[in-house]
Amino acid sequence: MTQVDPFHVDILVAGAGAAGLSAAIALDQAGFSVACAGLIDRRANGRTVALFEASLRFYKSLGLWPRFRDKAAALEKIAMVDATNARFRAPSVSFAASEIGLSAFGANIENNVLVDGLAETAAARSRLALCQSLIEDICFDDDDVRATLADGRRIRAKLVVAADGRGSLARTRANIDARSWTYPQVALTALLAHAKPHRNISTEFHTRSGPCTLVPLRPHGEKLHRSSLVWLMSAADAERRRNLAPGELAREIELQVGGLLGAMELDGPCGFFPMAGMSVAKLFGRRIALIGEAAHVFPPLAAQGLNLSLRDIAALVETLEDARADGKDIGAAASLKAYGTARRGDISLRTNGVDILNRSLLTEFLPVDLMRGAGFFAFSMIGPLRRALMREGVLTHQTLPRLMQARPRRGAVATGG
Ligand SMILES: Cc1cc2nc3c(=O)[nH]c(=O)nc-3n(C[C@H](O)[C@H](O)[C@H](O)COP(=O)(O)OP(=O)(O)OC[C@H]3O[C@@H](n4cnc5c(N)ncnc54)[C@H](O)[C@@H]3O)c2cc1C
Repeated sequence: MTQVDPFHVDILVAGAGAAGLSAAIALDQAGFSVACAGLIDRRANGRTVALFEASLRFYKSLGLWPRFRDKAAALEKIAMVDATNARFRAPSVSFAASEIGLSAFGANIENNVLVDGLAETAAARSRLALCQSLIEDICFDDDDVRATLADGRRIRAKLVVAADGRGSLARTRANIDARSWTYPQVALTALLAHAKPHRNISTEFHTRSGPCTLVPLRPHGEKLHRSSLVWLMSAADAERRRNLAPGELAREIELQVGGLLGAMELDGPCGFFPMAGMSVAKLFGRRIALIGEAAHVFPPLAAQGLNLSLRDIAALVETLEDARADGKDIGAAASLKAYGTARRGDISLRTNGVDILNRSLLTEFLPVDLMRGAGFFAFSMIGPLRRALMREGVLTHQTLPRLMQARPRRGAVATGG
């Protein structure tokens, strides 16, 4: 395989987070020449990602899943418990992957383990130029995009894939409007070791400050029973808990989850993430396509964020492959239109769905409690509705892009360890 000049490529991926690295690898594998620019954040901050079936298929298609399989815990069941103390409490609901013919809904993995593995894979690909530097400036011309990196390097590309997060420089330079909002919540993230097994069940407690979710993790060393925590709370509570000794914080977590997994201890540093939302006026423009948190941001309810981003990537790869096959300019707005059309509905469904569920927990307005309770009741009792909800969560009702269809594509090269 010949080395492609890294400074003149088909596609520049801006951002080297989970979305940017995944996009760079997928586009490289699809045969485009790719540069990916950004700093790789390998810090452990108690954050994990639950990846659902379609996302696992995506990584399997790229031959990456063997690298992560032994580091991820299967999610076989999801339980939801109303812990709001509302006058009308919703019934607890539990979903099993076996009800929709799957052995698991997906798998949970530490965020830094995923990013680290993706970065190693990207760095090992001979044609993919991984530039560990921020982009300082981007200019859009009729025929190409020119980027200047903080380390002085310059890159020209036919298309920039903006994966540079919520404050995306690429999106701003392309004059694509974004609407942002905040929630009165901070997510506390932590890895926990605990006395009782999680039995591959993820449990989401819905509280008045937002969900408090335990998600299964793999054993690590002598810590046989481990889970990750995402707990949404007020900024004041987050600040108070930030200053607690680890043992005190572990006791508060135990209390919050009703001792579900027995005695707990923290297994590494915690993270604190202010909650926000963002949506964009359009998902593409001349020589730019937005993916990941450059395109959509919402709180981590029902683990939708990166799963949605991987669907962006799989759809974008398909759009670009089709444009190339038709002999079109991959950076032309007309070529990218199919990407915008494919993604708009899914993104707006998740952004609005998460917003409604989150706000319904924060309000103490009785009719809202009644509606939420009725919804949960329906999901607990009505089989077809349950199964439709489960499928929507892990596979979506739309036709999935080729990289997410059940059988790996021919020619997918195994790169996993
Ligand atoms: C607490 C929490 C729990 C979550 N849990 C889940 C879950 O269980 N499942 C799930 O699917 N999703 C989950 N998510 C969402 C998921 O983590 C995010 O969607 C995903 O990590 C976002 O990835 P990203 O690459 O789009 O953005 P980011 O991770 O923000 O990456 C953007 C990258 O761009 C870089 N960048 C910024 N500016 C520039 C520049 N000028 N030049 C170059 N690079 C630049 C940044 O340095 C960064 O590396 C969770 C999120 C949170 C906060």
